[in-house]
Amino acid sequence: MNRSQTAVYVFLLGACLAVAMVAGWSTLGTQFDNDVYDFLFRLHPPEARAEASVILGIDEETFSTTPGGPRAIRAILAEGLERIQAAGPAVVVIDVILTDPPRGPGEEAEDRRLEEALADARHVVLTANLVRRGSRVVWELPRPEFARSASAIAHVHADPDFFDNVVREVSLEKIDHSRGRRFWALSLEAYRLFRGVSIVEDPDGLQLGEVWIPGRRAEARPMLIRYLRPPAGEPLSIPSLTVAELRRNPGAAARVRGKAVFFGITADGAQDRHMTPYSFGLPMPGVEINANAFETMIRGDFLRRASNLATFLACAALTAAAGAVFWRRSGWLAYVLGGAILLPVHVAPYVAFRYGVVFPYLGPLFAAWFSVVAAATFQHFVVRRALRRAAAEKERYQKAIHFVAHEMRSPLTAIQGTSELMGRYKLSDDKRAEMTRMINSESKRLARMIQTFLDVERLSEGEMQLRREDFSVRSLVGICLDRVRPLAARKNIAIHVTEGPDAIVNGDRELMEYAVYNLLTNAVKYSPADTLVTVTVSLDAGRARISVRDQGIGMDEKELKNIFQRFYRTKKAEASGETGTGIGLSIVEQIVSHHGGKVEVTSSPGQGSCFTIVVPAAVPGQVSAAVPANEPEDARPFRDV
Ligand code: ADP
Repeated sequence: MNRSQTAVYVFLLGACLAVAMVAGWSTLGTQFDNDVYDFLFRLHPPEARAEASVILGIDEETFSTTPGGPRAIRAILAEGLERIQAAGPAVVVIDVILTDPPRGPGEEAEDRRLEEALADARHVVLTANLVRRGSRVVWELPRPEFARSASAIAHVHADPDFFDNVVREVSLEKIDHSRGRRFWALSLEAYRLFRGVSIVEDPDGLQLGEVWIPGRRAEARPMLIRYLRPPAGEPLSIPSLTVAELRRNPGAAARVRGKAVFFGITADGAQDRHMTPYSFGLPMPGVEINANAFETMIRGDFLRRASNLATFLACAALTAAAGAVFWRRSGWLAYVLGGAILLPVHVAPYVAFRYGVVFPYLGPLFAAWFSVVAAATFQHFVVRRALRRAAAEKERYQKAIHFVAHEMRSPLTAIQGTSELMGRYKLSDDKRAEMTRMINSESKRLARMIQTFLDVERLSEGEMQLRREDFSVRSLVGICLDRVRPLAARKNIAIHVTEGPDAIVNGDRELMEYAVYNLLTNAVKYSPADTLVTVTVSLDAGRARISVRDQGIGMDEKELKNIFQRFYRTKKAEASGETGTGIGLSIVEQIVSHHGGKVEVTSSPGQGSCFTIVVPAAVPGQVSAAVPANEPEDARPFRDV
């Protein structure tokens, strides 16, 4: 790949990465990742059973058998607390909001009963919840007479996902931003009291005794809940009993001994129910969600989400790997390696999940697929184009070799024939001298041809050393004109020269002569008889411009793009009967660019062409070195081939 192809390739891969990242982090991508999470969650539910918690449920039966029904909730809470008191629960979490003041004497009596029950209980956790008051969000706290007996007040909120309302995690802390007051999650406070430890914070998580719970403060410390599966035949994933059951069988209270009791509403119609990864449309009571969060902490079974940076780096690594594979390798090996990049991407989230890491699925999947497909497609087209080019160049090269071999035969035949004559016959001194000159000049012609081909190769490999000297552009053009005039005369082509002030170029005079001479011979070769070739020399803004304009066959846009390629000849040039190799202009361009210049061409078919060499130059007098005298023609290595 050349530089611009490499740039396009890198850009393409960068675009793939960007699109994959945006897609992965988009709403749709997040939803997709959530679904994959739920799927993996169901595929690998924790094997464990609840160890430390019991749900004390307020179910339909409890409501229906309590005078006053759901409105008598505080009486039910008091009754429940009274009934489990003797069994000695370790912690009691009251997952019911106790904010409202009593309405009427009946409720006052209920409240007093509850107040007393709470005062008798050990380690009670009450709930606070955030509510909107106008434009502000504030905490609603339990009534002071209840709060007085609480060991902790904790926030009650589950965190349903913004997009699909599924509760996958709980925020371990919540702050009301108007006052900056913070409460820990119910499950966390229950755990703290249950273990008798304190909470030590750091920005990335919480330390509670031996257990470290991951959860960044900046994100409100989200903790993924590892829900337990309900054992067969049981309604809840956590062992449970109900107030109604306690009424029927007071001895059942023994089941709460030493446990964290999550006391809340489990009745079907309750509002406090949410979807979970297991739900399939059946919401889970909030109290069960909190108990599951508590059990997650008890087991220390924490899942961590991979950070955005880690996700980005993984995607970037996949893109880079795909790019490298198709850059370095081609054919089936590249496709096999490409497949080897794709395969792990499909299973990585599963493996990561098994190790407790939640890795996004869509972003890396897209990054891998997009970049493998883009890199493979790019390589396919670039390689195909390069092959096509190589085939065309080979064909042109063969033609040129054929032509050169053919051309070499004539000086060789002349040398052979002459030397044979000289050996076989006694010739006069004059004749001998003439033949010697002929052998000499023909062998030089042969040498020049060979030299030209060698120079083409060396130039193209950047090995050519310039022999630098200052020379006059005017004299250089003069020499070339002298040499081309006899050729032009044969076709009755007039050469008109317009010269401005002279310019001095510092460079390789012989190579520059070759370049100018080549443009002149082309102008003559590719022009019909009785036309005009105009040569203009000028100096403009420190640049010498040598232009050769003809009224010849010209070229179209497409041909113009190719004429500096080696061995390229236009169809019209081939048809013109003029011999050529298609090498000259490629050498001209390289010579000029070695001099820090460029070749400009304008042309239109049937109208003629104008080639202009533009090279850095100075005004005479501004340069120190003298302009060297012209050397005899034979000393110059280049001729049009
Ligand atoms: P050659 O003349 O040996 O074929 P060059 O490299 O000098 O090779 O030129 C390459 C091709 O560019 C020519 O074969 C011809 O098709 C085209 N070309 C060059 N100069 C002219 C011109 N003055 N007018 C029309 N076509 C030209």
